Amino acid sequence: MHVVVLGAGVIGITTAHFLVEAGAKVTVVERRPGPAQETSAANGGHLSASQARPWATPSVPRQLVRWLGQAGAPLRLPLWRWDPGLWRWSLRYLSNCLPMRYRANTRALLTLAHYSHIMLQELVARSGIAFNHHPGGLLALYRSSASLERARAEIAALSGTGLVDDEVLGADECARIEPALQSARDRGLLTGGVFSPKGATGDAAQFSRALAEASGRRGVVFRYSTTVEGVECSGGRVTGVRTSAGVIGADTVVVALAMDSRSIAAAFGLSLPLYPVKGYSITVPIDSSEARLPHIGILDDDRKVVFARFGAEFRAAGTAEFAGFDMRIDHRRIWPILAAAQELFPGPLDCSTGETSASWTGLRPMTPDGSPVLGPVPGAAGLFLNTGHGPLGWTLAAGSARAMVDVIQGRSPALDMAPYSAARFRAQ
Ligand SMILES: Cc1cc2nc3c(=O)[nH]c(=O)nc-3n(C[C@H](O)[C@H](O)[C@H](O)COP(=O)(O)OP(=O)(O)OC[C@H]3O[C@@H](n4cnc5c(N)ncnc54)[C@H](O)[C@@H]3O)c2cc1C
Repeated sequence: MHVVVLGAGVIGITTAHFLVEAGAKVTVVERRPGPAQETSAANGGHLSASQARPWATPSVPRQLVRWLGQAGAPLRLPLWRWDPGLWRWSLRYLSNCLPMRYRANTRALLTLAHYSHIMLQELVARSGIAFNHHPGGLLALYRSSASLERARAEIAALSGTGLVDDEVLGADECARIEPALQSARDRGLLTGGVFSPKGATGDAAQFSRALAEASGRRGVVFRYSTTVEGVECSGGRVTGVRTSAGVIGADTVVVALAMDSRSIAAAFGLSLPLYPVKGYSITVPIDSSEARLPHIGILDDDRKVVFARFGAEFRAAGTAEFAGFDMRIDHRRIWPILAAAQELFPGPLDCSTGETSASWTGLRPMTPDGSPVLGPVPGAAGLFLNTGHGPLGWTLAAGSARAMVDVIQGRSPALDMAPYSAARFRAQ
């Protein structure tokens, strides 16, 4: 079996790794000169095993109205802009905010996140790759008692699923677990937090580079600086991939092209409802301010900003902008990330940091319900999708890849794949 994996982001690289481990002959095609140079390049680094949640929540419609006039709002849907694709996507997104849908979507995401957690642990143990992995848990902070109470109710509702082992903490306990929060606690900024022992942080780009190298040693061929132009089929079966460097013969193709997966699927009559939700991160070197920065991954839930430390670097990431494929860095959108960092950890990240080359932007390939699209493309035997991981691609990479390899090789995956199939969009 010759499998061609399209895309060398964290999803494509992890897929190629599990495929070669399972004995397949694998080629990866990527337009960039190396792995993880697009959305996987500088993300928030959180591996949110039990804090994975869809962005379509029952409180979103109310919050969207509140955030309308705020330049620094964590999420703004500019429905006044001429963008029919965004309107269609938003209608589906808002329909997923219904409580019943939210509950089902949360379970689907958590199931995959939990499985990914186990698959990543095993992968790391087998491969021994280094990527500034810090499996010390994740702490979500809540500034208001209303948001903390919502989190508490949600954890209670999920108890008994075996998917979350989160602990609700007061402000003092948060500062005990992460001493860098003492100042924020003393200034009364925190009401409490939720600690997830299974959570971790790690550098997704470093992981992708290290895993690509390890997979290359096992025989995976990487065709970098090569653009995918289409997938060739004959008699309803995949026969190859058309690229800027000619046709590569294949009997199986896995599409892991993030937003560009849409055009490949569309050529086979499948419309994928993905929208590029833009986000930003800032990465700074850690110097004498070391003690004031957290060691474990932190989510500021009210500001929707995440913080992580990767060795000698510290990163803050967040914001959700619906601006199509515009990749310009808008410093007004970075400012709320820096403001949240300044409030919680005064000093290290000042507002001038946003003007430096340390700022980065990426497009989350996002589905309306928050789950990725995993599985075969109907009518094209041998063509599979592993895409649409939105804000959680790093968290979900290992589980998605492992399950996909099982599907490709005709084994039953450990998960029910129905919540991730492209067919689910017919009902949304
Ligand atoms: C600000 C921000 C913060 C985030 N924080 C987190 C986090 O804390 N935790 C988490 O789990 N997730 C996080 N994410 C989400 C995560 O980064 C993404 O879900 C993940 O990177 C998607 O990986 P991918 O491989 O699908 O996409 P990509 O990394 O974009 O890979 C797709 C690859 O396909 C290639 N490609 C596209 N078209 C073609 C073509 N025609 N020919 C050849 N190659 C092509 C691209 O060059 C690219 O390398 C964050 C995202 C953002 C933007």
